[in-house]
Amino acid sequence: MTFLFQDTVPVTTGTVSVAFTDRTLDLGDLATDHVRGAALATVAAETGATPYLMHQVHGTAVHLVDGSYEAAPDADALLTTEPGIALLARAADCVPVLLVAAGGEIGAVHAGREGVRRGVVTAAVERLRELGATGLRAWVGPHICGRCYEVPEELRAEVAAAVPETGATTSWGTPALDLGAGVLAQLAAAGVPATEVGGCTREDESLHSYRRDGVAAGRLAGVVWRSA
Ligand SMILES: [Zn+2]
Repeated sequence: MTFLFQDTVPVTTGTVSVAFTDRTLDLGDLATDHVRGAALATVAAETGATPYLMHQVHGTAVHLVDGSYEAAPDADALLTTEPGIALLARAADCVPVLLVAAGGEIGAVHAGREGVRRGVVTAAVERLRELGATGLRAWVGPHICGRCYEVPEELRAEVAAAVPETGATTSWGTPALDLGAGVLAQLAAAGVPATEVGGCTREDESLHSYRRDGVAAGRLAGVVWRSA
């Protein structure tokens, strides 16, 4: 299988699929056009849908993809109500989150340190519900774990002040953040059941990790699409 993980969810409007890629694909901005283009072509072939990317800016902007979409918008969450569109949330240690509603509305969210602190996942859930989504479920993809994500004490305090569940300690005893715990807490508070997929990006060398590989790190992706 091309993807690290893939599952399908029956919805009233067809079938939604959720997937996460691994290091066999590089969807990063620094990948050569050839590598990134090949990765996108693989996603398109595997999903049978048109891949849509966003220019991720660590904010809380939610962008609704419809037929008029052309360039990657500045956003950290993509939503759509339409079939044939594969939404991608890219990450290398941040948390990719996929949302699926019973009616087939879908979302892909990039939740990094700032996204968790500012509540991008909650914003995406709220916008989906404004669009009429009910029966939401979430898949939380591979990300850096709380035992690996070392941050300065001030930063831990700042993020944990907003989302207490993020407060953590590294395996070597220094201040850390558990972004996954923060996302799971935000989903629980919003009443969205979640499934966790994959391990720690820094520890699992089959995954892309910024903390392990630095600026050369590639990007994995959460991918969600509906087949009519
Ligand atoms: Zn770890």
